[in-house]
Amino acid sequence: MGASYISITGYLTNLHNQEITQQLNADVANHVIAEKFKDASPFIEDGSVNKEIFGDLMHDMMAVNQGIEVYLLDHTGKVLYSVVLDHSDNASSKSVSLAPIKTFIKNKGESFILGDDPRNPGEQKIFSAAPYSVDERNGFVYIVLAGEKFEQVSSNLLGQYFAKLGIVAALLTMLFSALIGLLSVWFITKNLRLIIGTVRRFQEGDLKARIEDPEGSDVAIFAKSFNEMADTIVANMDKMKSVDLLRRELIANVSHDLRTPLAILKGYIETLQMKTETLSENEKQEYLQITHDNVDKLSNLINQLFEYSKLEAEQITPIKEPFSITELSHDLIAKFRVLAEQKQIELKLDKPQENNMVFADVGLVERALQNLIENAIKYTGPGGKVTLSLRKKGKVVEINITDTGTGIPLNEQPFIFDRYKQVGKSTKKHGYGLGLAIAKKIMDLHDTTITVLSKPKEGSTFTFNLPAYQV
Ligand code: ADP
Repeated sequence: MGASYISITGYLTNLHNQEITQQLNADVANHVIAEKFKDASPFIEDGSVNKEIFGDLMHDMMAVNQGIEVYLLDHTGKVLYSVVLDHSDNASSKSVSLAPIKTFIKNKGESFILGDDPRNPGEQKIFSAAPYSVDERNGFVYIVLAGEKFEQVSSNLLGQYFAKLGIVAALLTMLFSALIGLLSVWFITKNLRLIIGTVRRFQEGDLKARIEDPEGSDVAIFAKSFNEMADTIVANMDKMKSVDLLRRELIANVSHDLRTPLAILKGYIETLQMKTETLSENEKQEYLQITHDNVDKLSNLINQLFEYSKLEAEQITPIKEPFSITELSHDLIAKFRVLAEQKQIELKLDKPQENNMVFADVGLVERALQNLIENAIKYTGPGGKVTLSLRKKGKVVEINITDTGTGIPLNEQPFIFDRYKQVGKSTKKHGYGLGLAIAKKIMDLHDTTITVLSKPKEGSTFTFNLPAYQV
């Protein structure tokens, strides 16, 4: 940029200079004729140039301005005489084109025009010219305004001037480029700095730090990805925190659950030890039965906990195979019949003749069904009904366990499958709140869900689907 700027400036300055010089000196030739040819003729009697007079005249003029060269031309443009030319050799006689001279005279020197340089044929120079007519001889006084001397001085000065201009221009160009560069970098990296700032804030613990308007950013994909990543991290952290909290709750409540039967056991055993003499045989049997029941409860709880923790840690992989869910239901009903009859509950399978096949882990499904039937019997009073129904619906078999029991309060329904939420509630009446949590885990392993529909005092229906097996 600097180089092209300098060369353009150089070219224009030169042109400007020449135009000024030509306009300022447009009348020089006229003056020469008016002043000098008034008293003396530039020719002597034999028709040759009066070298002495004309020579003096030219010397005077050129002494005042060394940049100019004065020529006497005849009417064809041939150079008759000039002190700057060597006239001893005829062959060196030169001529200049008359066309620019005539145009110059016609325009009275007001337009910028270049004429031939007699000393350097082929080159064009600014000039001043005027016609003369002396002793019936016509011609022109032709003054080259930027002669060799002028060129010399001018190119010297221009050289220095441009060297200075070059340095200044180069410095300025560099300065401006640097400024524009810095500004551009600042603008381009503005968004990047914003993102870096947000990432730093996030890194320093401000988990709410997000890039505002990520779509409008120059680096939209990056900005969006960062926001999504931050959301994922925060969500994972929340999840981990809540799992951790639930674990702590579980430990606290399990200890509580274990403590109660243990305390009862301890109490009865101590009584038996201390009052072994005074207690009747019946009382002893009763206390031993209570102790036995509580040991059962404890071992049941420990088994459930063990099973649940294995399911939770995903240590169990379901071994899926086709089996008849109808047959399994028959078996379970047979197993629970005595318990149901004891509580005067009618336990039955709806449409027992239909055989439904499913593709699942038979052991796990049995466990889930067992928990559900157990609960249904537990929460149903005498005279109630517990019904199992199996219905094929497209590619699945829907399993319902319906009871006419106590039902589940609406506000508790969302939490009954969640061991952690359930535990420690004052409303907890029976059991240890693990049966449904285990059933839900088993459903998770089969990529299905278990739902409940329950009305307090009217009963509950637990429902889940298993993939049907086409024979
Ligand atoms: P628990 O050992 O306490 O029965 P569960 O996980 O099996 O543990 O059940 C959780 C809670 O859900 C129970 O405490 C009970 O309040 C409620 N519940 C489960 N099944 C039934 C049902 N069939 N009828 C009424 N309430 C039920």
